[in-house]
Amino acid sequence: MFFPKELLDNIVYYKVITILTGAGISAESGISTFRDKGGLWDKYRPEDLACQSAFDADPLLVWSWYQYRRDTIARARPNPGHLALVKWEALARDFTLITQNVDGLHRAAGCRRIVELHGNIRINRCQVCGQESNMEETPFDGQVPICSCGGMFRPGVVWFGAMLPENALRVAFQAAEHCDLFITVGTSAVVYPAAALPEVALSRGIPVIEINPEMTPFSKSATHYIQGPAGTVLPELVAVYEKAHGLSSPTDPNS
Ligand SMILES: [Zn+2]
Repeated sequence: MFFPKELLDNIVYYKVITILTGAGISAESGISTFRDKGGLWDKYRPEDLACQSAFDADPLLVWSWYQYRRDTIARARPNPGHLALVKWEALARDFTLITQNVDGLHRAAGCRRIVELHGNIRINRCQVCGQESNMEETPFDGQVPICSCGGMFRPGVVWFGAMLPENALRVAFQAAEHCDLFITVGTSAVVYPAAALPEVALSRGIPVIEINPEMTPFSKSATHYIQGPAGTVLPELVAVYEKAHGLSSPTDPNS
């Protein structure tokens, strides 16, 4: 794997790391963007189901679609890219993982400080009182799950046309404002407000690295573009980081 010399020379100085992930890292675990042809649901566009008006019109239809998505996600496992980020979190002094993915794979891998900008598909949220429960506690079993307050549960994701959660956005921007290395992984970072996060880091003169199999509109703005899948690039990059920080001996008596 080729890493830019400037990155290798400076990696020892990077202690506050912020990562922004998108659909690309989940795709390596077999999770599609649900725009594939030939599927059970291909006559629907995701934006026509993942919205409040669709839920208001036909909550059972929207729930059935999310159950199909949950079934797909339940079979997916974190890949070496997810696992490398767990290791990086343990190595770095400060580490924030911001994700646009709703599949919960970063959580399943073991990452602790996660900002889920678009929510989490494994969570149910009451649309009346806001109470949250996990999908095992209040499963969709062909009937819309109902909260103890009597309100309908809906999947705990951010729908098209809705605002991103205020608290998650605040933490994400704080992380972009305080990190000394910012990395985008598997995202084209063109949709706002998430697209503003690497811009914040760049405006501070902080290096922004993009890791993607293909170049994106953002690649030219990034300080370094590293071509390749997350599952290949991240384990190698974390190994370089670990070595530079002298952290490679787990039996170090001084640690
Ligand atoms: Zn409720």
